[in-house]
Amino acid sequence: MPLPDRWIVLKFGGTSVSRRERWDTIGRLARERAEDGAARVLVVVSALSGVTNELQAIADGGAIGDRVDALIERHRAFSVELGLEPGSVLGERTTVLRALANDARAATRALDWQAEVLAQGELLSSTLGAAYLRAQGLDFGWCDAREWLDAIALPNQNAWSTRLSVSCRHESDAAWRARFARQPARMLLTQGFIARHGDGGTAILGRGGSDTSAAYFGALLGAQRVEIWTDVPGMFSANPRIVPEARLLARLDYAEAQEIATTGARVLHPRSIAPCRDGNVPMAILDTARPDLAGTRIDASATTVPGVKAISRRNGIVLVSMESIGMWQQVGFLADIFERFKRHGLSVDLIGSSETNVTVSLDPSENLVTGNVLEALAADLAEVCRVKVIAPCAAITLVGRGMRSLLHRLSDIWAAFGRERVHLISQSSNDLNLTFVIDEADADGLLPQLHAELVHSGAMPMHDASVFGPSWHEITHGRAQRGPAWWRGRREALLQAAARGTPRYVYDLATLRARARALAAIDTIDRRFYALKANPHPTILRALEAEGFGFECVSSGELAHLFATLPGLEPERVLFTPSFAPRREYEEAFARGATVTVDNIEALQRWPDVFEGRGLWLRLDLGRGEGHHAKVRTGGSQAKFGLPLPRLDAFVAQARALDARIAGLHAHLGSGVELPSHWREVYAELAAHADRIGTVATIDIGGGLPVPYLPDAAPLDLEAWARGLAEVKALYPQYALAVEPGRFLVAECGVLLLHVTQVVEKDGMRRVGCDAGMNALLRPALYDAFHAIANLSRPGGDTAQGDGVLAFDVVGPVCESGDVLGRQRLLPAATSEGDVLLVADAGAYGMAMANTYNLRALPAEDVIE
Ligand SMILES: *Cc1c(COP(=O)(O)O)cnc(C)c1O
Repeated sequence: MPLPDRWIVLKFGGTSVSRRERWDTIGRLARERAEDGAARVLVVVSALSGVTNELQAIADGGAIGDRVDALIERHRAFSVELGLEPGSVLGERTTVLRALANDARAATRALDWQAEVLAQGELLSSTLGAAYLRAQGLDFGWCDAREWLDAIALPNQNAWSTRLSVSCRHESDAAWRARFARQPARMLLTQGFIARHGDGGTAILGRGGSDTSAAYFGALLGAQRVEIWTDVPGMFSANPRIVPEARLLARLDYAEAQEIATTGARVLHPRSIAPCRDGNVPMAILDTARPDLAGTRIDASATTVPGVKAISRRNGIVLVSMESIGMWQQVGFLADIFERFKRHGLSVDLIGSSETNVTVSLDPSENLVTGNVLEALAADLAEVCRVKVIAPCAAITLVGRGMRSLLHRLSDIWAAFGRERVHLISQSSNDLNLTFVIDEADADGLLPQLHAELVHSGAMPMHDASVFGPSWHEITHGRAQRGPAWWRGRREALLQAAARGTPRYVYDLATLRARARALAAIDTIDRRFYALKANPHPTILRALEAEGFGFECVSSGELAHLFATLPGLEPERVLFTPSFAPRREYEEAFARGATVTVDNIEALQRWPDVFEGRGLWLRLDLGRGEGHHAKVRTGGSQAKFGLPLPRLDAFVAQARALDARIAGLHAHLGSGVELPSHWREVYAELAAHADRIGTVATIDIGGGLPVPYLPDAAPLDLEAWARGLAEVKALYPQYALAVEPGRFLVAECGVLLLHVTQVVEKDGMRRVGCDAGMNALLRPALYDAFHAIANLSRPGGDTAQGDGVLAFDVVGPVCESGDVLGRQRLLPAATSEGDVLLVADAGAYGMAMANTYNLRALPAEDVIE
């Protein structure tokens, strides 16, 4: 039977070839492609993990004999693990290795000798692998990659790079291809990393060379595709170890993939993309441990999706800032300085320039940036300019198509950098990347925040499932730990409620109680208060009172409403934590017996009679704010809340002068804070300050607990949260611990029901209009908040999946461009006038912020059991 003329190239790295079961996977994957895919298969392998480093040490001339013995022993042991007879399989390879150790060229560490030494790792691993696969009955041949890949000489190469970091010819060539195809076996195994030098000796492709080898073979063979098998599922929208919410990138074009490979995590060597792009060969990045995941596909498919695809951080960036000392716009200044970089073998990455200053960055992965080199460079540059070296810096890069058209969506990103010191901003001329260079120390913790902001702002088009796959968290922990939302099972009841008129909020008491009980079950917490500004609905207040919660009020109006709703409520269960309230409100709160929290000295100074002899709580600003949006960060110098720490002693003295007792310490630094460790830290800081004050009985660590608004967001890990609190409690058992969440208790229990008024297409943008928008739910307009939206009237309208869905902007009827409840949401294509839309997780700060702007009526409210 003639062999097929279609090839699939598979590449496996070091960790994928170092265990017997991994070779079983290689054999199975190759056979599936050969049989089901009716193709021929070429498998390209790396050396066993760690072997190339050992060979490099040999090439560097250290302890050659011992190292060779150890390497031979390692491969003999592995052949035994594979059930092979070491002597017969490895005999010839061992002889070559020993001969190289004794070669006369070893003394001078000749480059051609080094190349031969380095090549042995792949020759060994491929020899063992081929023998093993044949022993499993597979039709596998072996070939020496040096017979097929020819190194080419490039301008500007030195002796080292023409031997140890070569590029290869890869234009498709019918004669080459016919010759390659004449090899008898259906499946072939060969080595990555090595090629034939022009002089007939061995050449090396350099680090990451196996990916590039596979790409060269793919291009030469005009392969159907090149599959790069690694130990991660593909490229991600951010480094998943730092950002668990990072999403698998399902599809990229070559240029985007190149950019991400260059600036981000090194899943794929950047050099390997150009050969495939030149030969129009699709690439796939796949996970050997999870072979069923679709991975990342890289190809030239027609539709490109504009938007940020990934954000990355590179450390160890060195900035060189050069101030011209000659005249402005001096001719040849750039030529003078760049000539000096060339002289020191340094390649420049980013460039920023003004009339008198040029600042460039050096990427250590492309350069040998040692202190000596930098000193020599600086000395040379000093002849023509004033030099300043700024290091270590981090480069934060956003990658994606059409960066220039996205700037308006990046305002929160700019704001985040506004708090750091940005040394350099660079926008690539291919419109594929935007890079910010800051001090390394400032970059810590920034990536998760920036990633979340890119998602919130819509700059990352997460709704496009062809580009954004599952999150890392989902891949490793399974999807949706957050059980299905209550409203999915209540469609009929909700449609009936909507028939009584919309806009209408509906609250589910069972969900409210579930959240309340989850908090009540944490026995480290002594006192629980509900921040009723999140949702003051009387039924909700009664339900939480019955669950043992007290209440936190921020105005006289809230106090009056609370006591009117719950006339028998003990005043000890009420906190009053106002901001810039008039004197009268403090007097009223004291008169009602509530616990009053003060957050500035001026109040004590101006109204001494109000506070004299009282017990009060003090709200501190711990010097930073946190939370889901700048407008909800309630700490730090930009926020109006809290007493700054440097004034603590003065406050204590002032209180003492009034014979007022500081009985509680309080901090509430923001809302929707994602990290469970935040409260632990706040608790520990407050407790340490409480020790200094001496009169404190209660530590109140505020609210701000997050809820998972985004479809793939993980809920707060309450257990980790409670564990952190328990650790601090063990150190400070003398203080009662209080919390005062709002959002956490009520957000998920509420939905907003709307009727569709009009569906309109304008300039290619589809919009679904509703009978209320920012007047009923202000959060999207105010905070760019995300709320899931479903169409309750259509089958499948709550899943946002499958055929027959389209992306719509969901808008309200208010005369404001910001009146958008959700951008580019997937809804049934048939969505039309009269359909009922549900806006999810709207129980917190929904009705509470509703308004009558445009003289539109307030929403109705229902509570269901
Ligand atoms: C608003 C507020 C809270 C509640 O915040 P959530 O983010 O809804 O939990 C708690 N404490 C104070 C002082 C507040 O102003």
